[in-house]
Amino acid sequence: MTRRQAALAAVWLLVVVGLPCLGHFWRQRRASRCAFDGLAITPIYRVKLVDQSGHSAEFCCLECALRWQATRGPVEQVWVTDEISGQQILSQDAIFVRSPVVTTPATGNAVHAFATTADAQRHIRASGGRILLGPGRPFAAQQQSRTPYPQSKSASATSE
Ligand SMILES: [Zn+2]
Repeated sequence: MTRRQAALAAVWLLVVVGLPCLGHFWRQRRASRCAFDGLAITPIYRVKLVDQSGHSAEFCCLECALRWQATRGPVEQVWVTDEISGQQILSQDAIFVRSPVVTTPATGNAVHAFATTADAQRHIRASGGRILLGPGRPFAAQQQSRTPYPQSKSASATSE
């Protein structure tokens, strides 16, 4: 192999292997930033909003997700992260706790999401705070406006 062939092989390897790797890391870096304020997302506080067309945006905390939604209108799904397991759960299934523990100093968010009442109560025993109920829950207005099943047509027909 001549020096020229070796140089060409090195360039080829850089393009074939290097570019996809670079693209992968660039996408990961982008994906781990809050869509509202650009802060790095701590995985256990990640919030994801999905709109009617299936597009999603991720946020560093509930506060940013709520501010972003206020400017964009209702979304289809709200996914929050269970602080204990790191699993994403739908917001209507989450137990929310407001406590003195701030998750994101930049936004002052102090609302925490848990998958179980037992984990929420453990957090309250350790740090104080209270479980958020009814309209005090994040995204509560949106959940009230949405129904799990389509309204039956016979119900609207009888009212006419
Ligand atoms: Zn944010």
